[in-house]
Amino acid sequence: MPTATAKRKPKTNPPKMTYCWGESKTEGNASQKDLLGGKGANLAEMTSIGLPVPPGFTIPTTICAAYYEQNGRMPVGLDEATKTAIRRVERETGKKFGSNTNPLLVSVRSGAAVSMPGMMDTVLNLGLTDKAVQGMIELTGNERFAWDAYRRLINMFGDVVMGMNHEDFEHEFDVVKRKYKVTLDTELPAKGLEEVCQRYKKVYKAKVGSAFPQNPYKQLLLSIEAVFKSWNTHRAKMYRQIEGIIGLRGTAVNVQAMVFGNMGKDSGTGVAFTRDPSTGEDKFWGEFLIDAQGEDVVAGIRTPQPVSKMRKWNDKIFCELLVIKKKLEKHYRDMQDIEYTIERGKLWMLQTRNGKRTAASAVKVAVDLVATRLITKDEALLRIPAADLVQLLLPSFTTKSKKDVTKLAKGLAASPGAVTGGLAFSAEDAVTRAEAGEDVILIRKETSPEDIDGMQHAVGILTSTGGSSSHAAVVARGWGKCCVSGASALHINPVRKTVDIDGQTYGEKDIFSIDGGTGEVMLGEVERHEPKPSKAYLTIMKWADQKRRMNVRTNADSPEDAKRAREFGAEGIGLTRTEHMFFESDRILAMRQMILADTKEKREDALARLMPYQCDDFVGIFTAMKGLPVTIRLLDPPLHEFLPHDHAGQRDVAHALGIKPSQVKRRVEQLHEFNPMLGHRGCRLAITYPEILVMQVTAIVEATIECKRKRVDAKPEIMIPLVGTHEELAQLRELTQETIDRIKKKEQYRGKLTIPIGTMIEIPRAAIIADDIADVADFFSFGTNDLTQLTYGYSRDDINSFLPHYLNNGLLDVDPFQSIDVAGVGKLISMGCEGGRSVNSKLKIGICGEHGGDPKSIEFCNSVELNYVSCSPFRVPTARLASAQAEIKGK
Ligand code: ADP
Ligand code: MG
Ligand code: MG
Repeated sequence: MPTATAKRKPKTNPPKMTYCWGESKTEGNASQKDLLGGKGANLAEMTSIGLPVPPGFTIPTTICAAYYEQNGRMPVGLDEATKTAIRRVERETGKKFGSNTNPLLVSVRSGAAVSMPGMMDTVLNLGLTDKAVQGMIELTGNERFAWDAYRRLINMFGDVVMGMNHEDFEHEFDVVKRKYKVTLDTELPAKGLEEVCQRYKKVYKAKVGSAFPQNPYKQLLLSIEAVFKSWNTHRAKMYRQIEGIIGLRGTAVNVQAMVFGNMGKDSGTGVAFTRDPSTGEDKFWGEFLIDAQGEDVVAGIRTPQPVSKMRKWNDKIFCELLVIKKKLEKHYRDMQDIEYTIERGKLWMLQTRNGKRTAASAVKVAVDLVATRLITKDEALLRIPAADLVQLLLPSFTTKSKKDVTKLAKGLAASPGAVTGGLAFSAEDAVTRAEAGEDVILIRKETSPEDIDGMQHAVGILTSTGGSSSHAAVVARGWGKCCVSGASALHINPVRKTVDIDGQTYGEKDIFSIDGGTGEVMLGEVERHEPKPSKAYLTIMKWADQKRRMNVRTNADSPEDAKRAREFGAEGIGLTRTEHMFFESDRILAMRQMILADTKEKREDALARLMPYQCDDFVGIFTAMKGLPVTIRLLDPPLHEFLPHDHAGQRDVAHALGIKPSQVKRRVEQLHEFNPMLGHRGCRLAITYPEILVMQVTAIVEATIECKRKRVDAKPEIMIPLVGTHEELAQLRELTQETIDRIKKKEQYRGKLTIPIGTMIEIPRAAIIADDIADVADFFSFGTNDLTQLTYGYSRDDINSFLPHYLNNGLLDVDPFQSIDVAGVGKLISMGCEGGRSVNSKLKIGICGEHGGDPKSIEFCNSVELNYVSCSPFRVPTARLASAQAEIKGK
């Protein structure tokens, strides 16, 4: 039948289902990550450049996509294609799949275009059956090894493919260990392991309902399907969401001949980075385990040795690895993260990828690679994830305060940082307590992919087992989160929520401090201090500054913030909010008096009391920012925010101001609004209460003159918020200018005093009629928080009730308050720029919303040729680098 229809229909080529690699033929290469996944593409590439890689083949991501398109049915023809590809591997290795004399074993490994460490599934030792295990014994003469491999397969297959509980197997293992009176897995003799296999098969049958498959192809195909399925597990989806990985087709599946690191004392396995992933130092870095299979290192079950100790074990292999390090770095022009296995003294490469690294390491590696001419400066700039630079600005513990503190234990310095927090013994606890506002350290024996939510919420991660390549360490480094791993003095009881260290017990209420740069675990809070920028960091920032076109300003409301931002490289202030200044204890009363005043005179009286405070604040900020522009936004929030809403609070205010509590209550009721965000706020306040604007402008001008007289070059810019019509701005601009002129005259100031007057563009209408508004504006600043809120109609404060659902179900790719919605909000920004510049080609335009510190949004800002972005102080270096990257990419 099929042949008959095939003849009539025009021929369509069936999709290619396998891409092989091996000595005789290699079909893929490193550029095909989208199709073959990172792992598959690089296995092919390593084979091509002559490195020792066990042969195998990749089932491309398109097949995984097809699997999902057909609602989870295996694509027709895949089993045939797999069999053909296995035959090639048989020829390459001279072994036979399922054979009882010379069996070929394979691994089935997931691998998407972007690496998702530990998120998806892998099954090792496939092809072992009751028959093949005998073949394995014959082939290797190592009975213990063969049974060990078989029990691992049944366990992994049951676990990963059949969804069994790992504990079921663990229990059986313990029974046998007890019987043989041993404590370690490795002490069990061959006979014992054989017994373990028999028991494993029994629980397998009991739980799964059918016997462990004795047909190797059945094992293989089920495992391939399990890998497809692992693409869409909850944890994998979560990981992609946290990491912002979108638009991938699925995972590829790699089927590869097994090599064995567990064949005795001359075998082993390990992982390594070609440079130090924490600091970037150019030294081979990693760890290995003797007589073990790969997953033992990553799972954190045994604590491995550092590679520096390998020389003593096998110097030849160590030297070989050093040669490979050089070769890989030269070929990939970047630091690599590798997996390798040594089978009876022969080295095999199992994986390479660009190594995940901390920001400090990224910066150092990039600068060093430029020095050795492997990459250009532009490439170096593009290599550093701009958002990660925040990590470099984080404080560390002071040496002095560390001296006086109780040191509890020392683990491995897995991911740098210095944090203090309460102890959370489970991921769920970490999430709940962190969401309630507490700083917590997640403390676990080891972490697993199920814990990522808790790991994200914690300020730091502390584990008692596992090395620097354990799950905890890898994930933490990727996120720039502080982590100490393998602190073996910790005896953690997750059920009782306690940890015993040296005979002392600590619980949820205790506070620990951990230092991810040294591995120290300390009791209580430890003083911290600001970091010192490294030479490599300064170099990168210099290159970035030479490259970028946009200026970078900061959002700062206090002299301290302004000063800090300036140290981070801010070239001015893009947004100073004045309302914070009214909340401080010494002024809030005058503010309230102003709001409660029932006549203009009384209001002016109260404002006159506020004026000197405002003036002082401005002097402080102008001084910290001397020589650089400071954009001051006039009062923005609705007035009710300044009044207490509870009875007791209202009584206190009434008492302090000598009025009746009922008067306060009445005013609060008067000011009540159904939609305060859309209510009486922004420039609407200044329109109805012009005296507020007059007071603020007076304070700005007085402060400027005071500074100028002290030879401090103050450069204020006055920004009027929430403008939606030409008239609003025209009227307020006139009042502002009048006030400036009047104060200048009153102060008899004869110097130059040009204070630009502009507006925030944060109401969609303002963007649409930007040409009209530009008529009366010296500058625009896009307030993208409100602009996003008003464009989508999403209240920023209430979005969490539906945003998670939108993100999980693909209704939104990202939170539009974090990264600019280019299609909608971006379009308004483009319109605003065009409209504004059509009237005034020199109009200065910036952005001062949260987006000003987000690299993707910054790229957009550069594309519409904004003059500057403004962001919080800690994000200033990020914005400098991201602006440079945008410029390089835009070319
Ligand atoms: P992950 O992406 O979680 O690291 P991998 O597919 O890399 O998963 O495999 C898990 C572990 O199994 C790794 O340590 C790897 O080196 C090891 N491994 C995978 N395939 C083989 C193989 N063919 N021979 C020996 N070890 C293997
Ligand atoms: Mg791996
Ligand atoms: Mg606003």
